[in-house]
Amino acid sequence: MLKLVGLSSLDALSAKALPESIHIQHKTRLGPGMPEKEVLERLRYIASQNKILKSYIGMGYASAITPPVILRNIMENPAWYTQYTPYQPEIAQGRLESLINYQTMIQDFTGLDIANASLLDEGTAAGEAMLMCYSAFNRKRNIFFVDERTFPQTIAVLKTRAEGFGIEVIVGDYEKFNAAEYKDSLMGVLLQYPNSEGSLVDYASFTKSVHENGGLVTVATDLLACALVKPPGEWGADIAFGNSQRFGVPLGYGGPHAAFFAVKDEHKRRMPGRLIGVSKDANGKTAYRLALQTREQHIRREKATSNICTAQALLANMAAMYAVYHGPQGIKDIAQRVHNLTSALAAGVEQLGHKVVNKDFFDTLTIKVNVDAAIIHAASVEAGINLRRIDNSTVGVTLDETVSKDDLEALLKVFARGNFADQYKFGTTQPYTAPVPSIDALASSLSSGIPAALIRSSAFLTHKVFNSYHSETEMLRYIFALQHKDLSLADAMIPLGSCTMKLNATTEMIPVTWPEFGAIHPFVPIEQAKGYEIMHKELEYALQEATGFDSISLQPNSGAQGEYTGLRTIVSYLNSIGQSQRNICLIPVSAHGTNPASAAMCGLQVVVVKCEENGNLDLVDLRKKAEQYKDKLAAAMITYPSTYGVFEDTIVEACKIIHENGGQVYMDGANLNAQMGLCKPAEIGADVCHLNLHKTFCIPHGGGGPGMGPIGVKTHLAKFLPNHPVVPTSGPDGIGPVSAAPWGSASILPISWAYLKMMGDDGLRKATQVALLNANYMLKRLAGEYKILFTDANGFCAHEFILDTRVFGASSKVEAIDIAKRLHDYGFHSPTMSFPVPNTLMIEPTESESKAELDRFCDAMLKIREEIRAIEEGKQPKEGNVLKMAPHPIDVLTSDKWDRPYSRQDAAYPMAVLRKRKFWPTVSRVDDTYGDRNLICSCPPIEDYEN
Ligand SMILES: *Cc1c(COP(=O)(O)O)cnc(C)c1O
Repeated sequence: MLKLVGLSSLDALSAKALPESIHIQHKTRLGPGMPEKEVLERLRYIASQNKILKSYIGMGYASAITPPVILRNIMENPAWYTQYTPYQPEIAQGRLESLINYQTMIQDFTGLDIANASLLDEGTAAGEAMLMCYSAFNRKRNIFFVDERTFPQTIAVLKTRAEGFGIEVIVGDYEKFNAAEYKDSLMGVLLQYPNSEGSLVDYASFTKSVHENGGLVTVATDLLACALVKPPGEWGADIAFGNSQRFGVPLGYGGPHAAFFAVKDEHKRRMPGRLIGVSKDANGKTAYRLALQTREQHIRREKATSNICTAQALLANMAAMYAVYHGPQGIKDIAQRVHNLTSALAAGVEQLGHKVVNKDFFDTLTIKVNVDAAIIHAASVEAGINLRRIDNSTVGVTLDETVSKDDLEALLKVFARGNFADQYKFGTTQPYTAPVPSIDALASSLSSGIPAALIRSSAFLTHKVFNSYHSETEMLRYIFALQHKDLSLADAMIPLGSCTMKLNATTEMIPVTWPEFGAIHPFVPIEQAKGYEIMHKELEYALQEATGFDSISLQPNSGAQGEYTGLRTIVSYLNSIGQSQRNICLIPVSAHGTNPASAAMCGLQVVVVKCEENGNLDLVDLRKKAEQYKDKLAAAMITYPSTYGVFEDTIVEACKIIHENGGQVYMDGANLNAQMGLCKPAEIGADVCHLNLHKTFCIPHGGGGPGMGPIGVKTHLAKFLPNHPVVPTSGPDGIGPVSAAPWGSASILPISWAYLKMMGDDGLRKATQVALLNANYMLKRLAGEYKILFTDANGFCAHEFILDTRVFGASSKVEAIDIAKRLHDYGFHSPTMSFPVPNTLMIEPTESESKAELDRFCDAMLKIREEIRAIEEGKQPKEGNVLKMAPHPIDVLTSDKWDRPYSRQDAAYPMAVLRKRKFWPTVSRVDDTYGDRNLICSCPPIEDYEN
């Protein structure tokens, strides 16, 4: 491979490919790479430092049972977790169907018209809901009211979000809030249902008054509760959201979990996040696809409704499968049982002399205890139980589907614990314990905590898919039937530029489902999470070493969230040095759409910087604009190596220009796979950078999430890293939280931890060198037949490169999409299409692919070039040829009628190797326009499948 590239060693390659000015100054100090076995042993020890107590803390997180058939065959199954985001629907119909099940389920439970395919967490979903209200009134109304009985982390994330837009958040008692007083400025309200005390409040008349005064009503809710209580959509809510975690997803110390989000039909075009819709393929067959993408940041940029890109697809699939497996009656039974246990607990604690504050409830009780709450908490921890700590005399309990009769008894025993006065009164040497009420007696006279007016009468999960697969045999086959339709890394390389689809090693994945990581509630006392603390510290150290930064925040749940967090720390820093007038953010045209969207969310004004003909950042334009705005320049966002796949040798100079004009440098770290071990963002001149752990650091993409986007910062920004209202993560200067959980999706951090441990210093560097080699090898193999858009002056690319497929338009009418779809027939996922340049393909092989796989892909591309040539030479027509008609599913190839200008053989087996191993697309090319014109985002009627 080196010979083809024309070099003698990997070191010679990296020395040539990287400009000299950025070569690493301080070597990384990660030590030697550890063998897999030792890494798992070390992690076993770390995990053992976490203490698993039974958690009744609630606050949006409840213990759940992951049905083993879902645990093993989705969560632990690489055919599901290594999928890419379903931008190529012809090879993603399985997960698209599962996500549409998810959307249908959310619509059913919330009683609303349309739901998206997940958001990052409940806190950020609240922020998105508020911003939807804001944009619904064209940003002309700026008051948002929040009922004080909303989870504290939700309120805090919401307030962080509000700051960037100058939205005023009023937190108070909804009963005292008079919407009429804010008639012209109220955009909306947020209510929680059941609220944070556990109460079920009838908000119908309040909702009416908000609507009468022009505001929208957004509701944080609970899916399991909605099986029994009247859903928000039925009493007038415009938007409902929440956490779907309790549908079979582990607590994981805070994540990853899928937040759900549903709206009334009239708001669908403003809805954030990915939306799966129903469309048709070229033969009129029902097919799923991503809908309404024109709303998203990659099109709308700074005008986008949201910066969300990576969400929580894998976890949404798990929650959907939980509903498919249990079905409507199963879920109703689970909900009823949880509610009955709660009713029994309420009666029991009252018998013990405590007072239940909330008369109405589903699964949560707020209890005024008749002793010092500290005594109850001490007794509970001793019994292996965590309760919610509210104040000196109040505790909270939230029950869930894992609670058994014995658990209930243990809970009542905790509440039977008297105080020291009792102890002396009764003269025992042991703490006094009152007699515990009998569970059977409590159970025999249960009274419901759900007010009659709020009982749900409507049906849900009526679609056939939720009523068909209730045995494990059927469920397993359904999961596999969907899986077979989807191409994942288990099938072939996914050469996605910018997205770094690399190996997600089994050793890295194993710890994710260990209970010591999975069964920990995010708000346990930190002394119970010592293992997480050790792992976080070691990961932070390794990331600092790899990037050169001084501090890391592990809170942001995605790259885009990292961008937002990093820019917010910059804004706070500028404010702290009396530079609050700085509000301009320079962003190159080549930037990913999340960059301008994130900048806009921080209240920054985006100014676009040009790129040169050869793809490099236009330094003259950068200097001109930096100087023009030198009094107002806040930051520049730079992706490095650039999204054009080139190491620009002017990067150090670019950072200097920004600094000289008073700005800070934000580096988009999506391309760190080209840097690790060879250079460091902080040494190049960046002040802050996000790290997509689901790209360079091996967290799998999960079909569109989860991910993690921690940020690294230099010392002057460190004290502004995000804090958290429940578990402090920063000091008094820290910005508010950007995620609902203090360490984001903590339970997937062991993946990146294990990767860095196994690589060590030499491994990390070599991985990057091999990534560069693989990309340059492919570039050389394809360069004769395809036009390469950008290289550096020596003809090298970084870890990815762009094929300019626009050149075929004139001669053959072939476009990037035709090549992408034809690649499906060859068993490959297409490269990144039309980013960062429209109608081109961006290829990134990563270090994980063998020469054999790279050759297989290059051979396919060269064969496709011959197919294009046949059109250019007039041997094939410009329409209806094998490229335009691609991909070719089996039902098309086996149809009795065949009137195409190429043979079935040429369509299905253009290369001999395909006869040995072939991945089949399951639908013909999907019609995007039809899908957006006829928007359907829930499971289609069953006749559609039959037709
Ligand atoms: C992936 C990517 C992002 C966004 O990251 P998410 O984790 O999807 O939010 C930002 N910039 C670039 C260049 C990317 O490739």
